[in-house]
This record gives sequence, structure tokens and C-alpha cells, in this order.
Amino acid sequence: MKKKMGLSTQIFAALLIGAVIGVLIHYVMPSGTIRDKVLVEGILYVMGQGFIRLMQMLVVPLVFCSLVCGSMAIGDTKTLGKVGIKTIGFYLATTALAVTIALASANIINPGIGLDMDAVQTSEVAAAAQSTSIVDTLLNIIPKNPIGSMANGDMLPIIVFALFVGIILAKLGSKASTVANFFSQFNDVMMEMTMAIMKIAPVGVFCLIARTFATVGFAAFKPMLKYMGNVTFALAIQCFVIYQILLFIFTRLNPLKFIKKFAPVMGFAFSTATSNATIPMSIDTLNKKMGVSKQISSFTIPLGATVNMDGTSIMQGVAVVFIAQAYGIPLTMGNLATVVVTATLASIGTAGVPSVGLVTLAMVLSSVGLPTEGIALIMGIDRILDMLRTAVNITGDAVCTTIVSHQEGALDRNVFNRE
Ligand code: ASP
Repeated sequence: MKKKMGLSTQIFAALLIGAVIGVLIHYVMPSGTIRDKVLVEGILYVMGQGFIRLMQMLVVPLVFCSLVCGSMAIGDTKTLGKVGIKTIGFYLATTALAVTIALASANIINPGIGLDMDAVQTSEVAAAAQSTSIVDTLLNIIPKNPIGSMANGDMLPIIVFALFVGIILAKLGSKASTVANFFSQFNDVMMEMTMAIMKIAPVGVFCLIARTFATVGFAAFKPMLKYMGNVTFALAIQCFVIYQILLFIFTRLNPLKFIKKFAPVMGFAFSTATSNATIPMSIDTLNKKMGVSKQISSFTIPLGATVNMDGTSIMQGVAVVFIAQAYGIPLTMGNLATVVVTATLASIGTAGVPSVGLVTLAMVLSSVGLPTEGIALIMGIDRILDMLRTAVNITGDAVCTTIVSHQEGALDRNVFNRE
């Protein structure tokens, strides 16, 4: 019997076939109503957008529940308070560093120069881009009406409210166990729904990429490759240079050994594109192969899977420059600084499930007045980058966990050094 293709393989196949079919539609099929109206703007558009909308449907409930659960874990462990502050500080610092690397490399590589935007002008992602001042952005973090924020999909106020709910639930303990259980179970429901929707990802990806290529042909290929190469390069720097230097400086552990032992977890994250699903494997590997105490990792790893997304913020940093260049909008130094802040915050609001980083990118784009429709440009090829960045996301959590564990005297070096 033929073995069923895994989701990742299906998606890769969909990407390739979609690109080929898109190019064929562009160059071989005669233009006219059938090609342009029925196929490209009809079937491919509707199915691609349908998929995107399904993914968008998940975001608010998913981020809310996973943050309530995450902050509940911080609140109920007083002894881990110190570890919590240290961990959060480390997470924020590495994320800000990651965005900076992304922006710097994108300003050298120029991934968006040369893309013919007129050919792909779309109204796909409808949200209107509007620039708000820093003061307003900060004030807007506090929700006037949390339900209103949820209805509008404003991530930052949702995060603030979720943190409050989680911390207070932890404080109330067993008195509010029904509500706590409700959130953690609803979180499971949302995770399950994500997985169900991901099943049709190959179809969605096929339609998105085919439509892109059918519209732009090869003209899109090179700028896309440059963008993908840029993201991949910045991810590699973060994962194999920055993290390893940090690990060595803080712990004097052998970085090569770390990479070798952690590689299977990275592979798992790569194939699932889900930080959340990687949590159990990550905790287990850190404990059994690296000698990290479970007491620390069972707290820092789920927290990291919820709030620490260095890989995602790298994609967002490069995407900002790419989209700005594609639309011919210059970015000032002030804009770049804003992106460092908003992408770091967006990383907190990105749930550890596939493709959410693409949705929170809207927040980063609008923080510097870039059109959120630009997301449509990178959507079709995002899956591969999602896999890569998820591997980086969870590696960042593991490096931080190892360092914190070492500093707390909760790292068994014998286990780490054992072959
Ligand atoms: N898939 C990523 C993760 O789970 C999140 C994202 O960037 O979409 O870590």
C-alpha cells in the first residue's frame, strides 16, 4: 500500500505544482475571460482567500487562550518569579536582536527591489493601513473594552487583558479552577481546529501560489527568491551564530554538542511549523540529553512557545523592508526603530501555531504606515519560511532555558557532556 504523504510533503508538492501551473497559466494559456475572470480571479482567488480567512478566524481566540494559560503558569509559581523575570528579559532581548539582524540584512540585500507591483495589486487583505503615533500605540495597549478589542482583532490589548486574566486566575487558584479549566480546554479546542484547518493547507497554498505566478509569471520569482534567501540567511545567523555565542558566553557549554542534541527537536518543529506541538519534545530533550531541570523547562518552554518568536520576528523584519521596497515607500530610521519594538511585541502576540506570524505582521506593517495588503505578496511562499522560523523559535526558547537553568544551578553538566 502506498504510504500517505505527510502534510509538509503535501505542502511542498502544492508549492511546486502551484508555481509550475501558475507559470503555465501565465505564459501558455491565452488571456481572456476564462483565464483571468474564471480561473485566476475566480477559483484560485476564492479558494486561496477562503483558506486565509479560515486561518484568520483562529487568531483571536487562540492567542487569548494560550496567553491566559501561559500567564497562569507564571502566576502560580512564586519560586519561579525570579526565573520568570530573567526569562522574559532574555526572550525580549533576543527578539529585539533578531529583528535588528533582519532589518540590517534586508537593507543590504534589498529583497523587494524589482518586483512589479502593478501586476499583483490586490485588495486581498482588506485591513486599511493607517499610521498611528507612538503615544497612541502605547495607549492603545490598554483595552477600553476587551470584547471590542477581540471583535476588532487588536492583538496588543487582547494580550494585556489575557495576561491579567491569567495572573488573577493563578492567584485565585482552586477558587477559579472551573474558569482555568475552561481556558485550557478551549485552548485545546483551538489547537485542534488549527490542525483541522491545516489539513487543507496544501489546497490553499496551491491556489495562492498559482494565482501569484499566473498574475506575475517569472517576474515574481526572483524577488521572492531574494526575500526567501534573505529570511533564511537572517534565521541562520540567529540560530547558528547568535544563540551559540550566547550559550557559550553564559554557560561555557559546547555549542556544537547543543546543536547536535537539539537537532531532532528542530526537525520536528520544522515539519510541523508549530512551536506549541514541540513543547513536550523540547522539555524532554532538554531534560534527558542536556541535563536541564524539568522544574525550570516546564515553565520556560511553554512560556517561550507562547511569547518568544525570534524566527517569526526575523521574517517580519525582512517582510517590512520587502513590502516597503515593493511599494516604493521609503523607511526612515525612526520607522526601523518602531519596527524593532512592534515586531518584538508582535512576537509575544504570535501563537505557536502555523502561519500566525503572517497575521501579526499586519500590526507591524501598520505601525509604520505600510499597506497590509502587502502580506498577500509573501503569503503564497510563507509556508516554507514558517517551517524554518518555527525551528528557530523553539531553539531560542531552548537556549534561554539552558542559560537560565545554568544560572540557577539547575543544570547537570555530566548529562550535557555525555554522548
Ligand atoms: N509557526 C510559528 C510557530 O509556531 C509561528 C509563526 O511564525 O507563524 O512558532
